[in-house]
Amino acid sequence: MARAAILIRKEGIIGNVNALVGFSKKPLIAVVKADAYGIGAVHVGSILDEVNAVSTLAVACVEEGVELRKAGIKKKILVLGGVLKGEEKALVEYSLTPVVSHREHLKALEGIHIPIQVKYDTGMGRLGFLEELVQDSRIEGVLSHLSSPLDEGFSMLQIKRFEDIVKRYGKLPYIHIESSAGVLYRVPFTTHLRVGLALYGEKPVQDYPLELKRTIELKARIISVKILPKDCPISYSRTYITKKPTKVGVVAFGYADGLMKCLSNKASLYYKGRAVKIIGNITMDMTMVDLTNTDAEVGDWVEIVGENQSFADLAKLAGTIPYELMTNLSRRIRRQVV
Ligand SMILES: *Cc1c(COP(=O)(O)O)cnc(C)c1O
Repeated sequence: MARAAILIRKEGIIGNVNALVGFSKKPLIAVVKADAYGIGAVHVGSILDEVNAVSTLAVACVEEGVELRKAGIKKKILVLGGVLKGEEKALVEYSLTPVVSHREHLKALEGIHIPIQVKYDTGMGRLGFLEELVQDSRIEGVLSHLSSPLDEGFSMLQIKRFEDIVKRYGKLPYIHIESSAGVLYRVPFTTHLRVGLALYGEKPVQDYPLELKRTIELKARIISVKILPKDCPISYSRTYITKKPTKVGVVAFGYADGLMKCLSNKASLYYKGRAVKIIGNITMDMTMVDLTNTDAEVGDWVEIVGENQSFADLAKLAGTIPYELMTNLSRRIRRQVV
């Protein structure tokens, strides 16, 4: 019996695939790196494996690709993080496609006969060749990554640079640069979208033109309820003192589960659709909430993310991005596809 659960709505994920594909008219490379942004790569991968509009799953490293193959995932798997010497055998054994972004990656692949895709750095300053043309008969695709998809001017510059590179390669089956926010640019010469966040129903920008479906519900159970009198300190360092008799609930979810400590005394959780404030410091495994004027009992569930609150909402309060909050979700939370 799990005390915390992530419900993954299959219909939501498929709906988001359809929204993206409908908008762009391009198939998807679905990004499921970092355990599908903390949601659960095998769960999400198993859903996407059956969706025609998804051509490929993308992971960060070889181990993540191997995990998906061991779980029986059949789709093409792209390893975004390149390939180091010693990893090439696993690429062959598990049929993974490496993204090559350095001469050393090519060296690691000497004598290995698998398709490869080549990455260009057009303004991200992270992975990718700058201008040099890679001549290799194994190349099936080229890609680049937008560093500032909300900055139209710079993104258009990156797209132009990428177009010049793409032209030098001629026709290839995989040409991609658009991430969740990048989808807005409707790049005419690419063949695929390469999207993560939007798949999970989180908007990469405030006014995103696509209607995304709610996909994730994150909830945890109440393991204690008691009335504390006025002037009682709550949690470590006594950062909250009750101002009146208060019904205090202890929720089995703490910063070790992904609820960042900086949300202490700031964010709310939701009980039966009603906001209940986090009071006192969030602890490793537990968080206290003010349940005054609710009928909450031990064993009830509290929503952390779902109908009433998104990861983006919590991220805003925490001064970070939804990506960071999501990838902090711990392994001990039960994942379930519904
Ligand atoms: C993470 C990542 C993506 C996906 O970005 P989203 O904003 O989640 O859509 C795409 N491409 C690369 C290279 C990435 O690292």
